[in-house]
Amino acid sequence: MSSFLLEIVTPDRKVFGEEVSMIVVEGVEGQLGILPNHIPLVTPLKIAPITVKKQGQKDQLLAVHGGFMEVRKDKVVILAESAELPGDIDVDRAKRAKTRAEERLKQAKRDEFDFRRAERALQRATVRLDVSNK
Ligand code: ATP
Repeated sequence: MSSFLLEIVTPDRKVFGEEVSMIVVEGVEGQLGILPNHIPLVTPLKIAPITVKKQGQKDQLLAVHGGFMEVRKDKVVILAESAELPGDIDVDRAKRAKTRAEERLKQAKRDEFDFRRAERALQRATVRLDVSNK
C-alpha cells in the first residue's frame, strides 16, 4: 500500500512528521479523507480530532485546533495554532479549561466576542479530552 508524508506544524514546533496511508480531517466544509496522490488543495480546518491511518496499525487520533491543511503532490502539511499527540495532552489542564470556558459562556452574551472566544476554548478542551480518551 502506498503512503505519503504528513507534517503537522505549529508556531512552536513540528508536532508530527511521518509516512501515513490515509488521514481523515474536518474541513470547514465537511469531512475529507486524503489518500496518496490526492489532487492539490488548501482548506481551513475545524477545531477537531484528525484520524491518521498507517498500514498494519491501529488508527491514531491527533488534536488539531483549526488552522489550514495543504495537500501537495508529495506531502500533506497542516499548519495550526496548536496541535497535540494524545500522549502530550494534560487531561487536568483540559478539564480546567473546559470548566472555565463553560463559566464564561454562561456570563457572556451570545453575540459578544467573549462568547465566541469561550466557544472556541471549549471546543479545544473538548477535542483534547476526546483525543486523550481514545
Ligand atoms: P489553556 O487555557 O489551558 O491554556 P488553550 O486552549 O487556551 O488552553 P492553546 O492556546 O490552544 O491553549 O495552546 C497553548 C499551548 O499550550 C499550545 O502549545 C498547546 O499545545 C498547549 N496546550 C494547551 N492545552 C493543553 C493541554 N491540555 N495539554 C497539553 N498541552 C496543552
